[in-house]
Formats: sequence, C-alpha cells, structure tokens
Amino acid sequence: MNWNDAKFETKAIHAGQDPEAKTGAVVVPIFQTSTFAQPAPGEHLGHEYSRTSNPTRDALQDCLAALEGGVQGLCFSSGLAATHAVLALLSAGDHVIAMDDMYGGTFRQFDKVWRRHGLTFSYGDLRDPGVFDALVTPQTKLLWLETPTNPMLKLVDIAALSAKAHAHGVLVAVDNTFATPYLQQPLALGADIAVHSTTKYIGGHSDTVGGAAIVRDADLGARIAFVQNANGGTPGPFDSWLTLRGVKTLAVRMERHCQNALAIALWLEQHPRVKQVIYPGLHSFAQKELAARQMRQLNGQTLGGGMITIILDGELAHARTFLSTVRAFTLAESLGGVESLIEHPAIMTHASIPPEQRRAIGISDSLCRLSVGIEHVSDLQADLDNALKAAFA
Ligand SMILES: *Cc1c(COP(=O)(O)O)cnc(C)c1O
Repeated sequence: MNWNDAKFETKAIHAGQDPEAKTGAVVVPIFQTSTFAQPAPGEHLGHEYSRTSNPTRDALQDCLAALEGGVQGLCFSSGLAATHAVLALLSAGDHVIAMDDMYGGTFRQFDKVWRRHGLTFSYGDLRDPGVFDALVTPQTKLLWLETPTNPMLKLVDIAALSAKAHAHGVLVAVDNTFATPYLQQPLALGADIAVHSTTKYIGGHSDTVGGAAIVRDADLGARIAFVQNANGGTPGPFDSWLTLRGVKTLAVRMERHCQNALAIALWLEQHPRVKQVIYPGLHSFAQKELAARQMRQLNGQTLGGGMITIILDGELAHARTFLSTVRAFTLAESLGGVESLIEHPAIMTHASIPPEQRRAIGISDSLCRLSVGIEHVSDLQADLDNALKAAFA
C-alpha cells in the first residue's frame, strides 16, 4: 500500500511495513540472512545478497523515505557512513561549502579523510545566506548544511540556501539529525538530500548506531544506492529492525522532547547561575522567525527540538562539578534518546575541532549541551537545580 497521502504519525507506523506476505506477520521480521536462494541461476525473488538489499533494511528505508517526503531512502551502519556515501558522489578537485558549526565527526571526516582524497572545503557562518555567494566557486559541487547546528543551535535558511545553490548547479545536503523529519522537512524546503544519524532521535532509544540518506530525485537515489552497495557500509537486519521499531513512536516522542525542553529552557533562563540559554523555541532565540518558518508549530508554539545549549556563569571547574553531580541526566556523548543526557562539547564531542576554531564559534569551557529526554519534567528540573547548587556552593 502507498502511504504517501497519510499523515506523519501514520506513515511512521505503516510506510514500508505492510504485513509480511507469506505469514501475515504484523511486524516486519528480522531477515537475519546474508544470502537468498535462487530458483534458477540469475533468477531471484527480489533479493540476492544482504549488502545489496535485505527486506528488513528495505522496510526501514521505505519508511524513512516516506517520512522525509523523498522517493528513496538509503540506510547505513552509522550517520558518518551515510555522510561518507554522500561525499563519495564527488571527485577529486570538487569543492564543498559547509557550515562552520557542525557535528565534530562530520568536520573530522571532511578535514582528515576527504581532503586527502582531493576534495576542498570552505566553511562559513551560513546564518547569513550571502556567505554562500562569497564562498561558491566553479568547482563547488555540494553545500552541506546542518540546522539546528551542534552545539550552538544556529539555524540556516534551507529554502534560501537551496535556491542559491541550485542556481550554481550545486547539490544541497541537510543533516536533519537534530530536528528529525517530524520537526523539519528539508526536501520540501528545496534540499536534495536529507541525512541522518538514526542513532539519535529516529532510533530514539540509544540502543543502536545507524545512518540514512533520503533523496527526492530517483537518479540521485540510484547513485547513492550504487555507493551503498559498492562501499558496503550497510546496517545489519537487527539494527535496521531496532531503528524501525524506534521510528514508529517518533512523533509522540518528539512532542514530549520539545515540551520538556521548552519548560527546562524557560526555567534555566531565570536561573542566576546560567548566563545564556540557547533554544530555538524561546522568545530570546536570535533566529526565532526562521525557527517558526522552518520548524513545526504546535498551537502557535515553535517546536524547537530536544536540545538545549547553556553557558554557565562560571569556569570549567563549575561545569565539571555540575556535570559530575547530575543523576537524572546521564553524562554521556550522543543525544536523542528517551533518557536525558548532558555533556561538555569542548572536552567531549567537539574535542576534534581545533581550540581556536572552537572558541571562534562560541564553544567555551562553561558551555554544556543537554539532550532533554522524556522523563517527567519535574524530576529533570530538580536534578539540574541540585547540580547547579553543588557547582556553585
Ligand atoms: C551523531 C551525529 C552524526 C554522526 O552519526 P553517527 O551515527 O554517530 O555516525 C552526524 N550528525 C549529527 C548532527 C549527529 O548528532
């Protein structure tokens, strides 16, 4: 059945997930097999070998394609493997423009792997779309966006930048990990590729690592599918199944993540020991008009996601005590799971970014990143309150 006309919540549960033809199993089975019997040489029943295709992975790919409004989804063994597959479309000499504030591992892959293979990169603060005009060259082939960015939660105008890029024949990829397709639809805004670390909100339960790239053009889909099979960074059937099980509840989880995060952000804004709270759902958020235009609204409120970045009114030592005292929040890298996590980007997730560049984008030693989970908000707030008291005792 085609679920294209269904609402998001319905697609999450049904797209790509029709009852299994042979047994009627309501849940897509885990086809834990590497290969498929052929009735005669060269004749197969739709699958030959699980790197190339596997029914459990196909179900996840079709579901994610439906959720992002694309024609094809390709899944990978990690978010960075998905990024790698997109960059593998390029050739030596090609130029890429990317946001100056982005996931540290993406920067590391661009800077330490792809540059050695002859790609060149320019980074800019694309909050001002005019920066693209200053960076674009005849060699530019890809614009890599992340919005909201990690960890400064800067937004970039996907529609404006896609129009500019397409005028130069430049492909646009958006890392949609922080927003998820529930809050933001890059392909509808003009981007060519939506990229995910499904490890985060899409999987949602911190129990598997995975990635995806979703496209709205069949030719581009075929090119990435070729890389997926040729390079082979595919997820196994069980990881695909876990991710598919997670995605079914994406809409309800995201609403609660956003509701909890907004309440915590409003409370932190009033806290005397917190110098700054960055959250796209706040009135104080610098780009609140763009957030309202580009991200989902519910009852007149922008759903700003589950990530909050705060700057404490203190030094590294205060941040260390704060982060070592929390209990309802777990001190860990990663984000987007049902449980709340907290971390210190300068020491943890963004340590691979050179210190000067970190400082330039605002990642100071008193900056902490919160991934607000779906526990009861009053427990989360009490935990932060207690840890702030300990840090500034
Ligand atoms: C985690 C993350 C990635 C990388 O994904 P992995 O699944 O860890 O490889 C890429 N982009 C963003 C925004 C992320 O948060």
